[in-house]
Amino acid sequence: MTPYKAIDIIITNTDAITAFKRKALKSPKFEILGVLIGRVKGKIYIDDIVYPEQEAVNGPGDLCKIHYWPEELQAIPGAIGTIHSHPSAEPGLSKEDMTSQATDGDVVFAIYSFWTKKDSVRRSTSLDFYCGSPEVIVSTGT
Ligand SMILES: [Zn+2]
Repeated sequence: MTPYKAIDIIITNTDAITAFKRKALKSPKFEILGVLIGRVKGKIYIDDIVYPEQEAVNGPGDLCKIHYWPEELQAIPGAIGTIHSHPSAEPGLSKEDMTSQATDGDVVFAIYSFWTKKDSVRRSTSLDFYCGSPEVIVSTGT
């Protein structure tokens, strides 16, 4: 059994999160990636999101994923992790997400999922934060 630890994530800049969500919703076919700028002091503080250079590549189906350079992300001052969108997907991690977290050295990463259930016109959204090694991933949904 995996022991679950609670993680406290404090968002000091909700405007940055709102802006990310808007950007993601405007891009239903492409994943959007941002870098979380913040601090880890007992809790995880998220102070801003910046957008590094990225390019879209074709993923499975007609979905486009993103290509980026981990070294570039790590060189951003205050970078503690990443946030990306999952268009047309329910909350969850892809196989790539599990491995990229380790190679990118993320302290925390967030996934903003949005999808429309069958027989529904309403769009559902979920912003989930994950942290820990791939074996001990802890999620806090918001
Ligand atoms: Zn993903």
